[in-house]
Formats: sequence, structure tokens, C-alpha cells
Amino acid sequence: TDETDWDDVDLDAPEGDEPELAVPTLAVVGRPNVGKSTLVNRIIGRREAVVEDVPGVTRDRVSYEANWAGRRFMVQDTGGWEPDAKGMQQSVARQAELAMRTADAILLVVDAVVGATATDEAVARVLRRSKTPVILVANKVDDERAEAEAAALWSLGLGEPRTVSATHGRGTGDLLDDVLEVLPETPREGTGVAGPRRVALVGKPNVGKSSLLNKLTGDERSVVHDVAGTTVDPVDSLVELGGKVWRFVDTAGLRKRVTHASGAEFYASLRTRGAIDAAEVAILLIDASEVISEQDLRVLSMVAEAGRALVIAFNKWDLVDEDRRHQLEREIDRDLARVPWASRVNVSARTGRAVQKLVPALETALDSWDKRIPTGRLNSWLKDVVAATPPPMRGGRLPRVMFATQAGTRPPTFVLFTTGFLEAGYRRFLERRLREEFNFDGSPVRISVRIRE
Ligand code: GDP
Ligand code: GDP
Repeated sequence: TDETDWDDVDLDAPEGDEPELAVPTLAVVGRPNVGKSTLVNRIIGRREAVVEDVPGVTRDRVSYEANWAGRRFMVQDTGGWEPDAKGMQQSVARQAELAMRTADAILLVVDAVVGATATDEAVARVLRRSKTPVILVANKVDDERAEAEAAALWSLGLGEPRTVSATHGRGTGDLLDDVLEVLPETPREGTGVAGPRRVALVGKPNVGKSSLLNKLTGDERSVVHDVAGTTVDPVDSLVELGGKVWRFVDTAGLRKRVTHASGAEFYASLRTRGAIDAAEVAILLIDASEVISEQDLRVLSMVAEAGRALVIAFNKWDLVDEDRRHQLEREIDRDLARVPWASRVNVSARTGRAVQKLVPALETALDSWDKRIPTGRLNSWLKDVVAATPPPMRGGRLPRVMFATQAGTRPPTFVLFTTGFLEAGYRRFLERRLREEFNFDGSPVRISVRIRE
């Protein structure tokens, strides 16, 4: 038998608890099917596949750690959302805009065999204004013959197309050398911890988003127009709350109180998604005087999938009576059970009730989101938990949980190395215990399992 006692296991987990230095981010953008995720896999040089990610986490929301020529950086696969042709163009352009705001360098991937499409051109137009360095990648150049076709991509106005074959690895080393030339050593302001924290105020129409923003900015002194060293995107609002400046992202529409035209729901939802992507923490507003609806839960899913910290604010509390309060508690048990970690506050944008409680809730959520557990502490905790409650047998074998490492923060992301499949129930158990031990209130936590044969 290959069973080993815990004490005999050589924990080849990364040593040391040195604080993680912030590393720069490389965003990979482009329309669907050009080979972005193939390229990302190539860049991160994935030796062991991530067998299973947390359900509900789509691969396009994930950042991976990469290492080339001794330098570490994050690679963000900004995959795709494919509603319809017109929506796609807009959605890819939005990704590009987001990457310009938050990444330190951008790869625009184009399919050299297909050539530049209208969507590629629309994205290139956005990226030509970018202050963030952009490298144009002509993918699917599997052989010499295709090189010539790739030259046509000069027309995108982003300089020389770097030809690669993501599937074969052709040209990817040279590409990464070029990336390191333009990638700064440290992340830019706004992506690191510096600068005002970014908040998305989201929720279905009429829950009171504009009312709350007006309440928060009602006191003129709280509206900040200028912060040293910060450029304010005209669609954002800088608001001083609790002695700190916060950046409420993409609030232009809220402040102007645009009336929603029909058919605008799709765009409203794109916009919500864009705001969530650009934010670090979301305040999800729910109308406490009404039954929690599908639409509320859809926005909730967007926040959870994007891996942002979350504060749920039940608004219109002035309309909530004893009966409604009891009913709401039942709805919360039923509908919000999958985010038991979300902080909750009951507010009234109309009367101003408890709006000051939003600040500590945001701070707690962001602390959790940024939290890093030293590898030593993590593994001594894991060893105790697994010893007391081993994972269930699978196929007559007891999977061993060898060690864990925190692969990232924002949100905290853990990787468990095991010798076999861990059932979802057991992973939920581990997440629960992890939360009890280290407290991640207000933040999602991701756990993936890698099986080492
Ligand atoms: P994404 O939607 O942009 O992430 O694209 P994928 O990475 O999922 O790739 C889309 C398709 O293109 C897949 O069938 C890949 O196997 C294929 N593909 C990706 N890179 C290459 C390449 O360099 N050469 C060829 N021939 N096919 C590729
Ligand atoms: P938005 O569409 O999410 O921006 O919602 P609005 O801020 O426009 O609010 C929609 C309606 O709800 C307006 O008539 C507001 O006056 C009302 N409203 C907003 N907050 C509250 C609140 O706390 N209590 C009550 N009673 N009404 C509110």
C-alpha cells in the first residue's frame, strides 16, 4: 500500500512566509476562439492541470501566476461572453478598456488564419489610445507559410504582429521576452493596494442606487474632485467616507439619472458587469420591502463569479415592518445561503439610516479579500483538520491531502495538492473550517484541487 503517515510526508510546499510582493498583471484580450486560453496555458506552463475549480467560477474570470526568465507576473485570461455579434463587439471592447485601466501590459490576440475581423478592428481602435503597453499577437501561425498572412495584421495599427502558435509553442518564448521588456517591475497605481479602493454600487433597477449615491455625496464636502497622483475616470465618483476616499466606479449613469429605454436591459447588465470587473468590492443593493427576486440573484452571481468582495445592503429599511422582517429572514436563508460570508447591512437611502455602517463593512470585506495566510500556518491547520476528519474514500482508496498553498489574493485562492479526487462535500467542509480559522468575512474564497499521481 502507498498509504503514508502525515508525519512521513515530505511537505514540498513552498517554504517561507515572506510577504508576497505585488506582481504586475498581463491581460490577454481578444475575441472568442482566437486561442487566448491556449496561449495563457502556454504562458503559465501548466504542468498539472487544475482538475477542478470551484463550481460557478468560469475560467475567464481567473488570473494565473506565471514565471518567465525569473520574473513573476499574473496572467489574466479575460475570456469571453458571447451574447450576439453586436454584443460581442461591445463586450470585447469593454474588456480592452478594463485591461487598459487595470493591467500593466496587454496582449491582443488575433487569429492570423482568419485575419482581422470587424471585432478585432473595433478592439484595436480602443487599444490604440492605450497608455498601457499593447503587444499584438498573431496566433495560429503553425508554420512558415502562415507567417506571410500574419503580415496583413500590421493594418490594425498596433505595430508589428508577433507571430506565435499557442498550440505548438512556436514563437511564444520570443513573445514572452518582448512582454518582459514592456512589463513594469511593480503593478501600477490602482491595481496594487495604493490609491482609493474601487467600489461598484450594483442592483436591479429601482432598488435605490442613485438615492444611496446621492445620500453619500449629498454633503458636498464628501465629493472629492482631486486626489494627488490619481486620475479620475470621468465615469467614476470619488467620495470621502469614514475619513477615506473611495472610488465608486462607473456611476456616471446613476448621477445623471438616465431613464432606461426599452431593450436597454442587456446593456444595463453589460454595464453592471463592467462596473463589477473594474471594482474590488461590490455593494449589492436589494430592496428589503420586496421579495428577493431572480434579478437580484443574477447580479449576486455576477459578483461571486467575478471573485469580488461583497457587502449586501438591504435598502428601504424604513418600509420594513415586523412581518416583512421575518419573511425576509426566510428569504435570506433560502436565497442567500450560498454566500453566507457576505456582510449584510440594513440601510435606508431615504432617511440615511445606518448608511455609515457601510464603511466598516467595506473595510472588513476588503481586508478579507487581501488576506494572505502564511504557508506554515495554513499547513499546520490543514494537517489538524485532515487528521481529525479525513476525506471520504473514493474507489476504495483514501485520497491523501498532502499540502496547501495560497496561490493568490483578491480573492484568496488556495490550491490543495492531493493524491485523489476530493468530493464537493468535503471541499465545502474544508472551506467552512478555513473560514472559521482565518476569517474571510465579506470575501469569496477559491479552492482548487490538484491531483498528483
Ligand atoms: P479563446 O476562446 O480565445 O480562449 O480560444 P481557445 O484557446 O479556446 O482556442 C480556440 C480554438 O483554437 C481551439 O480549438 C484551439 O485548439 C485552437 N487554437 C488555439 N491556438 C492555436 C494555434 O496556435 N494553432 C491552431 N491551429 N489552433 C489553435
Ligand atoms: P435606482 O434605479 O437603483 O437608482 O433607484 P433610485 O435611487 O432611482 O430609487 C428608486 C425609487 O426608490 C425612488 O422612487 C426612490 O425615492 C425610492 N427609494 C430609494 N431608496 C429608498 C429608501 O431607502 N426608502 C424608500 N422608502 N424609498 C427609497
